[in-house]
Amino acid sequence: MRIEIPCGGCEETGAVISKTDSLLCKMPAVRYDYHIHSSFSDSSASIRDIVEQSVKLRLETIAIIDHFWPSIGSTRGGAGLIKERRESIETMREEYPQIRILEGAEVDINSDGSMAPVAGGLDQFDIVIGSVHWGSDSRHWASAVTGAADRERFEILGHWNGFLSSYRHEHGIMVAEALARNEIAVELNARYEIRYENFLTMAKDKGCKFTMGSDSHHVLEIGRLKDQIQLADALELPLAEI
Ligand SMILES: [Zn+2]
Ligand SMILES: [Zn+2]
Repeated sequence: MRIEIPCGGCEETGAVISKTDSLLCKMPAVRYDYHIHSSFSDSSASIRDIVEQSVKLRLETIAIIDHFWPSIGSTRGGAGLIKERRESIETMREEYPQIRILEGAEVDINSDGSMAPVAGGLDQFDIVIGSVHWGSDSRHWASAVTGAADRERFEILGHWNGFLSSYRHEHGIMVAEALARNEIAVELNARYEIRYENFLTMAKDKGCKFTMGSDSHHVLEIGRLKDQIQLADALELPLAEI
């Protein structure tokens, strides 16, 4: 019997591999990528490029995530742009019904715990990633993220340590508790080195769930989650389904 599984743990490209069932990969198969940027913000990949590559990789769910003005990484914004992107996504949903395509945004978490505005608001999206995009020490990070988690709507804390210049466990606990009580997942992001691993195990103990995202800005980066899958497996992190 021949089984095909997409397995980011076995191949550098994350491409689909074939194995006989007696040789099934030990890595858990992750069939999604919840963090894919498009040419509607700072990626070179069109919506069509993204969907066709993801179908090739046999991903089951992808989230097309863009930054909209004034969030960092945006090139443009406004309701017209978001509508144009939505129409492109809808065209792809009709053309490729075998893949679930989520419409998402990555929105800046500001230092006061507010989130950057997006034309039309956040409720129009299937998925929102909240991210700190400014260099911050442990204390300021904790204050901003807990404030946003308690007051704003987002499903995933993006690259949670991406801009952290220091980390103290007491602040990590505050953040993990806020994420857990608001059912916000912690992202294992392929673009930023994961440091402070003890935050992850503590967050697991506090009840947090985890997601993975390539944070791809190029079509060939989609689905590259090998290290993140290994880390989640090693630490037995529970994965959130979105
Ligand atoms: Zn980001
Ligand atoms: Zn991103």
